[in-house]
Amino acid sequence: MIQLYIPLNFLGVIYREIKQGLTDVDRMFALMDRPQEVADAPGAPPLAGLERPVVRFEDVHFAYEPERPILRGLSFEIPAGQTVAVVGPSGAGKSTLARLLFRFYDVQQGRITIAGQDIRSVTQESLRRALGIVPQDTVLFNDTIAYNIAYGRPGASQAEVEAAARAAHIHDFIASTPKGYATLVGERGLKLSGGEKQRVAIARTLLKNPPILIFDEATSALDSANERAIQAELRSAAQGKTTLLIAHRLSTVVDAHEILVLEAGRIVERGTHAALLAQGGTYARMWALQQSGEGALMA
Ligand code: ADP
Ligand code: MG
Repeated sequence: MIQLYIPLNFLGVIYREIKQGLTDVDRMFALMDRPQEVADAPGAPPLAGLERPVVRFEDVHFAYEPERPILRGLSFEIPAGQTVAVVGPSGAGKSTLARLLFRFYDVQQGRITIAGQDIRSVTQESLRRALGIVPQDTVLFNDTIAYNIAYGRPGASQAEVEAAARAAHIHDFIASTPKGYATLVGERGLKLSGGEKQRVAIARTLLKNPPILIFDEATSALDSANERAIQAELRSAAQGKTTLLIAHRLSTVVDAHEILVLEAGRIVERGTHAALLAQGGTYARMWALQQSGEGALMA
């Protein structure tokens, strides 16, 4: 027993030390429990042309495991400053689009470009600086709530952090804790609910204010009153930004430039809200279902 206990405990210490020594992006990977699989091309330049970036997926094929294709030849374009929405059942591959855009994985066929540059040809650092995501499940760092928000823009002032927290409707909650913005959160600190974590992620992204936004079911963990209030903030944050909106409630996609209905890694329907309703297919059925008060849909 003793012999087994000591080495395990020792490994635990080493693991913690290593984790704490890593940079933030690496910490993010460690927290996501996956290896870093992609590398910068030698001499890769930073991503350019971010004033009005177009995002394009061109015939993208992707599988996490070779025998199980997840995305099967996806093509779409998010024009600069526009919003493209993606809806579809759980497991369709929606969040995978976000992971590929961040280049957590490389596509196996086709390419993803931003402002005409293949994302594999530019530095990952510049790529990730250009992107902001409100993910489905937010992982917080074992640090203060201020750090977790300012992570979006290191060096942000306390006033800027607070303004972002107010816009994300999390300031009052933070102010109500004894240590306020200095409260430690994460596994070793104050445990936040799914909705609170989601609002921290929203504050982080609002503060970062990047040219390209990804909302991955960004308000799915919120109750409907909070969701409506924050939707308005997200809509205003997305104004003029190139936005990939992965949606869980169809009411949020009505104004999108284009809506893609994803099923089993293929786009089965696409168009504006009005066009998709007129088509009377999957989207129209989902819409009718939600209008009839079924509540959360598809995802
Ligand atoms: P959605 O967001 O539409 O619910 P995802 O893009 O998260 O779907 O996942 C698509 C499919 O890929 C699912 O079947 C999921 O189980 C699988 N998947 C997601 N992540 C991984 C992974 N890291 N390794 C293997 N399979 C994965
Ligand atoms: Mg998802």
